[in-house]
Amino acid sequence: MKRSLLIKPMMNDFYPTATHGEGIYLYDETGKKYIDGSSGAVTASIGHAVPDIINAMHDQVKKVSFVYRSQFTSEPAEKLAQKLNELIGADEDYWSFFVNSGSEATETAMKIAIQHWQEQGKDRKQKILSRWISYHGITLGALSMSGHVKRRERFVPLLEDYPNVTAPYCYRCSFQQTYPECQLFCANDLETAIKRIGAEHIAAFIAEPIVGAAGGVIVPPPGYYQHIKGICDRHQILFIADEVMTGIGRTGKMFGMNHWGVQPDIMALGKGMSAGYTAIAAALVSEKVMKPIVKGSGSIMSGHTYSANPQSASVALAVLHYIEKHHLIDKVKEKGEYLIEKLQDLAKDMKMIGDVRGLGLMIGVEFVADKKSKRPFQPTEDVTSRVIEKARDKGLLIYPASAGNEGVSGDAVIISPPFTITKQEIDDLVDIFEETILEIQFENC
Ligand code: PMP
Repeated sequence: MKRSLLIKPMMNDFYPTATHGEGIYLYDETGKKYIDGSSGAVTASIGHAVPDIINAMHDQVKKVSFVYRSQFTSEPAEKLAQKLNELIGADEDYWSFFVNSGSEATETAMKIAIQHWQEQGKDRKQKILSRWISYHGITLGALSMSGHVKRRERFVPLLEDYPNVTAPYCYRCSFQQTYPECQLFCANDLETAIKRIGAEHIAAFIAEPIVGAAGGVIVPPPGYYQHIKGICDRHQILFIADEVMTGIGRTGKMFGMNHWGVQPDIMALGKGMSAGYTAIAAALVSEKVMKPIVKGSGSIMSGHTYSANPQSASVALAVLHYIEKHHLIDKVKEKGEYLIEKLQDLAKDMKMIGDVRGLGLMIGVEFVADKKSKRPFQPTEDVTSRVIEKARDKGLLIYPASAGNEGVSGDAVIISPPFTITKQEIDDLVDIFEETILEIQFENC
């Protein structure tokens, strides 16, 4: 066997070689079976090797796989834009700009927001506001918006200081408040930041409806987003919803923001949009935001070689049809309630599980060294990685979500299986998770 020359997340770690997948299961070269308990990176939301999607890929590649966006449009790309607009179902149209990753989607959203104001002569509105404990992507623009300490620290001099707002993290409220007495201190923190910086310098505020990778599924308190949208509108600041993780059914509604009835000005989509069958993501832009751009320069100043390629668009369309055909979003709600209840029951007996939270099939489990005081583990104890590794050895894949915000947030994992998981499979998943936690607790004694 030749030395591997593939750069991996941790060069010294062991990675099994995946050979195939089916439904919620993945298999490695030794024949070992894994429950894909996190849909990879909260991505493979309809499970593996679904024949409808394979057929759609095959049909499209036989016709035409690639055309360049400045030379041709294509039926799948046009249809996908129509379909996404229909799914948003707002009283204004949303335009689609297709890219290849969530990072490109948020970075495109950021550039469109800046351009929107430039076209109206407001050149100083260049800054984006975001929250600490957030993740919007790995490219420098997207990372500038991300309040994710571990991923930022190496590049700080190259980044903009966009995270300025405190996250709505009720389990560890930075303001030492409790809801509802707090009257949403965390949402008001946006207004404080706007007043400090000056709305004349701010193009947009970006937030994940539910924080994913940076904090282990942080669901805001009721009223938070309505309040945030009000602040943005009052100060003429666009609101960008980063739905890369929450979008396309993951939380039991088509988009995360649907839980609060808030319509963003721009939305970023990725991951579940193609359920992992191809690389495609999107910035969806409201008519209001597009209007001055269409009237002014005529288009947005962004784009990639693979933007709007027909092959990826046809796969995303097939995924959306599959979700609709099988009423999967209703099932996410029902299965999510079953899974979260089981995990919350488990938490009662486990001293290292501090909190279980989430919506639909996007569930976070936060680990604590002391349940009563909520004291986090020391970063040197490496609890998240140890849980992930042990679960994997036992045949369960889950997703890490600790961002190194030392003293602010702690160790956490995300459990987010494919929407097609059955109740029996949920029981199996929770059994393996329980065994994993018991063993880690024993090691920690
Ligand atoms: N935004 C959010 C909310 C995400 O969860 C992620 C990926 N974890 C991204 C953006 C970046 O997406 P990608 O990894 O596809 O670039």
